[in-house]
Amino acid sequence: MDYTGSLYRPPYEANSLLLQVTVGCAHNNCSFCTMYKDVKFGTAKLEQIEKDLQEAQVMHGKVRRVFLVNGDAFVLSAKRLKQIAELIIQYLPTVETITMYASINNIKSKTDEELSELSDLRINDLWVGVETGHKKTLKYLNKGFELEDSYTQLKRLNRAGIQHIDIIMYGSAGMGKGTENAIASAKLINESRPTGIAIMTMGAYGDSQLA
Ligand code: SF4
Repeated sequence: MDYTGSLYRPPYEANSLLLQVTVGCAHNNCSFCTMYKDVKFGTAKLEQIEKDLQEAQVMHGKVRRVFLVNGDAFVLSAKRLKQIAELIIQYLPTVETITMYASINNIKSKTDEELSELSDLRINDLWVGVETGHKKTLKYLNKGFELEDSYTQLKRLNRAGIQHIDIIMYGSAGMGKGTENAIASAKLINESRPTGIAIMTMGAYGDSQLA
């Protein structure tokens, strides 16, 4: 398998096949994040992806879950994601779920029809960097979308049959704002109906804008 740069995946994906489709993060501008500062965003060539899948077919046999790396792989166009999903199904027909990290903006850029087509091609679960349901906090986290977008786009996933695990970051509102943030985030989660909630904690690391 060909991998470029540091790879990140949720702990839950420890047994998933990691298939690289992008390098770094297309947004790469969240105020707290330093994960992909050392790499320029890029996309993997389809030929390389196919080569990796041929290797995975020999090495891993029956694969049920594939996690596409890197930072916001759902940024790829619906057309490219469909090509990748078709290749995965061709080489690993036992796959039930193709998943990856997604930004709210990555969902927004796809039509309802495209989301449904992707769901039919087993892209039926996403890890969405929601972070917070607190409007002001979201602003200074610099995610590049508004709170209203979170409400709208997560519901679009539900309608398209794409499950989602919403990533929420404790501590993101700052000192003394924990309860306010928790209530606002719970409101969003109660409306967006994720299949899971992944809890992270805020850390202002080294060269992050937030630090
Ligand atoms: S938090 Fe996610 S979307 Fe934001 S810069 Fe980091 S990898 Fe990219």
